[in-house]
Amino acid sequence: MKNIAKIYAPPAPHMVGDGFRVHNFIPSFPALSMQRMDPFIMLDYGSKFVFPPAPSPKGVGVHPHRGFETVTIAYKGQVAHHDSFGNSGIINEGDVQWMTAASGLLHKEYHAESFAKTGGAFQMVQLWVNLPAKDKMSAPKYQAISNDQMTKVFLDDGKSYVEVIAGKFKDQSGPAKTFTEVHLQNAILAKGMKVDFDFPATQNTFLMVIEGSIKVNADALVAVDHFVEMDKKGTSFNIEATEDAKVLIASGEPIGEPIAAHGPFVMNTRDELVQAFNDYNDGKFGILED
Ligand code: MN
Repeated sequence: MKNIAKIYAPPAPHMVGDGFRVHNFIPSFPALSMQRMDPFIMLDYGSKFVFPPAPSPKGVGVHPHRGFETVTIAYKGQVAHHDSFGNSGIINEGDVQWMTAASGLLHKEYHAESFAKTGGAFQMVQLWVNLPAKDKMSAPKYQAISNDQMTKVFLDDGKSYVEVIAGKFKDQSGPAKTFTEVHLQNAILAKGMKVDFDFPATQNTFLMVIEGSIKVNADALVAVDHFVEMDKKGTSFNIEATEDAKVLIASGEPIGEPIAAHGPFVMNTRDELVQAFNDYNDGKFGILED
């Protein structure tokens, strides 16, 4: 069995720009370092927060990324993005954007225009997935994964299900293409339902309670907005919904390479970080107006 290592209450939120009110779990908690959670190098969780109507969309202005992937899950509300290669789109409620920043781009992330006008509940996850050295300088790309493209595996009650974004649940694969083995899934469970997960013991695994509350391994009770670090040992664990619940489950094979990180750049060496700053200053990430 894979046991819980530790349950984390959400730390005080901070604002990213003026639109994203997030609790940072990885890597702010010393025990949830990039090395410990490899390949997951950053987890910002925007707990449910009601934004009032705004005359112009709130968000975060132009910034670069290099060396990894950003995975944005919109649980409530809508996120709009634009990048320096002319790509843009809207991540609607229930959808995921899997952005491979790789060699680098500039982008901005805002509440969608229509959401800003009406305001409302906003809840999201942004997870950074590291890339192996050999792929860090590959071309940027996007996977816009709408909710209806996700593989839904229904459980015995016929209404609870596991939504597979990436990797596998009971041999059913999700649509996201990944560079290394990554499993990313939402379990949507009616009160009382139980579900078993099984991942290789080599992987780093965490849970994030998005809605409701759960029991893990028929023992520890985990409340909404809490993060569960699973032990490195063991393979299988059980989740029971103690009320209607939604849980994000992530498990990934560690890349096991040196990590040199500074702000929006995550490389293998200090020299590569310096190169990233130089390339950024030289305009090699493209051009994007605020
Ligand atoms: Mn970004």
